[in-house]
Amino acid sequence: MLKKWFELIFDHRIGLRERMFRVVTGICMVALVIILPMGRSFANLLILAASLACIWTIVKVSIQRECIHTGATVITIMLLILFPVSFFTAGGFYSGMPEWFVLCFIYISITLEGRRKIGFFLLCTTETLLCYYIAYYFPEIVSRNTQSNSFFGSATSVVMVGILTSVLLLFVTRLYEEENEISKRQKKEIEELNKAENNFFSSMSHEIRTPINTIIGLNEMILRGDIPEDVAENARNIQGASKMLLTLINDILDLSKIKSKKMEIINVSYETGALFSEIVNMIWIKAREKGIEFRLHVDSSIPSMLCGDEVRIKQILINLLNNAVKYTSEGSITLSVRCERLTLNRVRVWYSVEDTGQGVKKENIPYIFNAFKRVNEEKNRHIEGTGLGLSIVHQLVELMGGEISVNSVYTKGSTFLVMLEQDIVDNKELGKFTLETRVRVREEEQYRQSFEAPDAHILVVDDNEMNLMVVRKLLSATKIQLDTALSGRECLRLAQIQHYDAILMDHLMPEMDGIQCLHALRTQPGGMCQDVPVIALTANAGSDNQLLYRKEGFSGYLAKPVSGALLEAAVLSILPKELVRLSEDDTQSEIGKDVLIFEQAQRTFLTVSTDSVCDLPESLKKEFGISVCPYYVCTDEGRFLDEIELKADELLSHIAEGKNGFSLPPSVEDYERFFAEQLTKTQNVIHITMAKHASQGYSNALEAARSFENVMVLDSGHLSSSMGLIVLYAAHMAENGATRTDIVRTVKNWDVISLPLS
Ligand code: ADP
Repeated sequence: MLKKWFELIFDHRIGLRERMFRVVTGICMVALVIILPMGRSFANLLILAASLACIWTIVKVSIQRECIHTGATVITIMLLILFPVSFFTAGGFYSGMPEWFVLCFIYISITLEGRRKIGFFLLCTTETLLCYYIAYYFPEIVSRNTQSNSFFGSATSVVMVGILTSVLLLFVTRLYEEENEISKRQKKEIEELNKAENNFFSSMSHEIRTPINTIIGLNEMILRGDIPEDVAENARNIQGASKMLLTLINDILDLSKIKSKKMEIINVSYETGALFSEIVNMIWIKAREKGIEFRLHVDSSIPSMLCGDEVRIKQILINLLNNAVKYTSEGSITLSVRCERLTLNRVRVWYSVEDTGQGVKKENIPYIFNAFKRVNEEKNRHIEGTGLGLSIVHQLVELMGGEISVNSVYTKGSTFLVMLEQDIVDNKELGKFTLETRVRVREEEQYRQSFEAPDAHILVVDDNEMNLMVVRKLLSATKIQLDTALSGRECLRLAQIQHYDAILMDHLMPEMDGIQCLHALRTQPGGMCQDVPVIALTANAGSDNQLLYRKEGFSGYLAKPVSGALLEAAVLSILPKELVRLSEDDTQSEIGKDVLIFEQAQRTFLTVSTDSVCDLPESLKKEFGISVCPYYVCTDEGRFLDEIELKADELLSHIAEGKNGFSLPPSVEDYERFFAEQLTKTQNVIHITMAKHASQGYSNALEAARSFENVMVLDSGHLSSSMGLIVLYAAHMAENGATRTDIVRTVKNWDVISLPLS
């Protein structure tokens, strides 16, 4: 029986509460066997036998009926009755009984819960004190004990209670340790499951994108042809359905990323005007098609450059605006942007999307941000949607530390308000921003060839033959000579014998992936494509890949499935201008959200950059194309960006007034942002900093440069004007085609070099 009892206690399939109940009650039963005979009367023995039988039954019944808490309560009541009886019959405080009261306290604390625990604790305390009180003031009630009996009773009780509580603690600790171990194991299993689920979603998204690429690409070819209207209608429907499927995949992928905490917020500097134009360009035409007016109010005082996750902000606003168009059948939708300055370099931006559509019923508003929840189903059955959009928007806003709220009047319209705080990069105000000045007409459905380049030769690398065929067909009108390679190895072989003007490279390929292939191309001995711009053409969706591809040295990236217009826009932006003949009415094709070109024009090969502490006049910096990463100036009034927010003269007059002013170097993240921006304009950066013993700038820049392949950080070994002179000379060398090694040697040996006077 004892063996079975042990087995039950350590059986993990049984709940922890039940096992604890068994342990503690078992120990209390042992305690009863020990203490009740202390009274040494027949009545005591009878009470003992009856109590043990009772407790045994209570344990069995309460476990069977799954009412452990009630069982424990009944046993506590029995103990509270039995212990005083024993106390008075065994000799009061001249016996071993007082120690057993301690066991009663332990039993209550382990087996009872909530208010009951507190109640019985108080009861036990009162009872103990009452027993002592009675024994003290009415000693005649207490049965008399000889001194040897008292001595024996007390000693055995201390030892027994000690042993029993130790055993109890050992059991309890062991149980907790085991439970802890199990929960750790389960946590790991859940993490692994999440990882597997996430991998499944990304590979599923990749796998689904590949056939959709073929469907959309070939469908576009059908639409480009001279076809009867009914066929065109069908083809347009296929186009619409494929895009819907794509949105769904992107949403599921985003949701799984948020769930697994893999969604990263990447803050970069961006132009507020460009962001609004892009959004407006994507939405206004949809509104026009539905006959809805699109209004825009942008606070003219909003800074022209902010630092935030541009991609996600766009995603949030486009989602809200798309919904506004979707759920409005007449009237207008309005995007308003308002800004509130928090400090000199931080703003709070309020984006509001208002519509005069169907609105949301009051009782549905609390559920509107739930995933997969669509409200007003009876009205919206004919409107496409999955109920994922707002849930993603809500979680993205939270990830960015912002707030989102909704105000809606059923049948009248809704207003979604998003608040995001962002850092200011350029304090210059955006000024008047109107729809008329920004909107460019985009006829999405109608393909119009943008350029021809019969002399250009490009290579497309993809392990999927269908994808290669789609790209070939989509670019056929441009008359570009196009080679294809089915693997990275094949690409390297071709690059050894042929120079290409541009390469489009798939990312996920077996054996050698696109990134490995790009690195191999750049360092290929005797390779003819070492400096050729390469665009990542990838089904590995997710706009946060931007940083990855940029860091790896791609010139841009295109997400599959890609339309003909986007593909042409991407190729056009990297082909040498002399090879391209623009179409008559070409207004540089628009680059939509699925394409990101890191270099709009040919990048220079090498530029020299430095920090704002180099003391170079603006005119010289401009003349030699020297980019400057600003230091911070800290004054009594706050922290300012050197030369951007606080000019040298202002600082001097500030110091002349006897106030404090000292400079702080940019942080590692500041340098990372700066280098990433430089690499959109140049292929290699040499960044020259102030002497490393004088500032932390050098080590921060060096740390930041580790994230980039083509950034080199040099210590000028000097301060201010001398440093400026070195930077100027290095920039002059770069402009005249000096190699990286030459410039590095010059900067390192500056003290022994005599400058030419001219
Ligand atoms: P869906 O894909 O269904 O549009 P969302 O998560 O974007 O999913 O929206 C959830 C629900 O909220 C929608 O089904 C719709 O009922 C309601 N909703 C969202 N935006 C609006 C709006 N501007 N006007 C009215 N109802 C809206």
